[in-house]
Amino acid sequence: MNRKINLLNLTFEELEKFVIENGMKKFYAKEIFTWLHQKFIRNIDEMSNLSLKDRSVLTEKSYIPFLNLTKYLASKIDKTEKFLFQLEDGNSIETVLIKNKERNTLCISSQVGCAVNCDFCATGMGGFTRNLELNEILNQVYTVERRLSKKNERLTNIVYMGMGEPMLNFDNVMNSLEMLSDSRGINISKRKITVSTSGIVPAIEKLMEREINVELAISLHTAINEKRDLLMPINKSYPLEDLHTVLKEYQKKTNRRITFEYLLINNVNVSDGDANALADFVHDFDHMVNIIPYNHVEGKPYERPIEKKIEKFIEILEKKRKLNISVRREKGSDIDGACGQLRRKTLETPKMS
Ligand code: SAH
Ligand code: SF4
Repeated sequence: MNRKINLLNLTFEELEKFVIENGMKKFYAKEIFTWLHQKFIRNIDEMSNLSLKDRSVLTEKSYIPFLNLTKYLASKIDKTEKFLFQLEDGNSIETVLIKNKERNTLCISSQVGCAVNCDFCATGMGGFTRNLELNEILNQVYTVERRLSKKNERLTNIVYMGMGEPMLNFDNVMNSLEMLSDSRGINISKRKITVSTSGIVPAIEKLMEREINVELAISLHTAINEKRDLLMPINKSYPLEDLHTVLKEYQKKTNRRITFEYLLINNVNVSDGDANALADFVHDFDHMVNIIPYNHVEGKPYERPIEKKIEKFIEILEKKRKLNISVRREKGSDIDGACGQLRRKTLETPKMS
């Protein structure tokens, strides 16, 4: 077993403590932090402004972890790239890079599997294995940033919309948000980081107390309790009324726009009644409704609606109910764009259209 300290699991304060405990001057913590979180080095020997002695102490006591890229797929129809990473214990996670003209957005995972078990989701199918450690969250970002920097590109946005429920890995996710937005590190503004949640009400309360002002996205998918109980069992613990109340408080306190994600699933949540229930739920928020036509998952009974139904649904929301809508067209459909799908199918050959 590796008993050395995993350097990417340490917050700045923890790194300072570690540096002092090992006989180095406190201010070296800042140098080391920069090597790790801004220069993304892979090897302690690269810390060229540290003495050889300090480097050898660090090497003896600690190490820089890395993720093992076991599968890489690049879409042929858009610029989406998908990474399957193997962790130290052999588990796998997925990370997706979505490129467009102005933005390089990285969709990262927060857990191996997911306990929330939404009925439509590929990630939930395999159950929950474990939370990702801080280093495993950060290294998804750093690994892709290193690749991009070779082409003089940078990541501009981070979304916690990969595998797992970020609000159920609260402490590691909070630390990762602080680290990713740290000006001594990769320095991505909190306005460019979005955490997506199925609606874990007490965790949203805690997020509010911590005043970590990242963007919040709520996976709503239906604004009718009976349907949400079936689609997202978490709704039985935190029903729509409670979610609405906590989000009102959240918005009052943070003054930030809330994004609502709404999957369109044929014969499930695309009727006129569904559109009106959605509008009733979100109309009193400063909101953005992100409409996502469902991506079929093998073994699930759900399909996306035909285009005409999608258009009608959107028209009610936009024209009649005057909501702010964006439609997320499928990305990387030839490389299993929806999160959780690549990991499940990793032994099969991906279908290219
Ligand atoms: N657990 C968090 C974040 C990860 S899921 C959450 O649920 O918000 C990220 C988004 O992908 C969620 O909105 C989820 O509902 C959506 N999603 C899950 N399966 C999907 C599929 N098959 N097609 C399209 N989107 C899907
Ligand atoms: Fe978990 Fe999100 Fe999938 Fe639901 S949609 S099972 S919360 S990853």
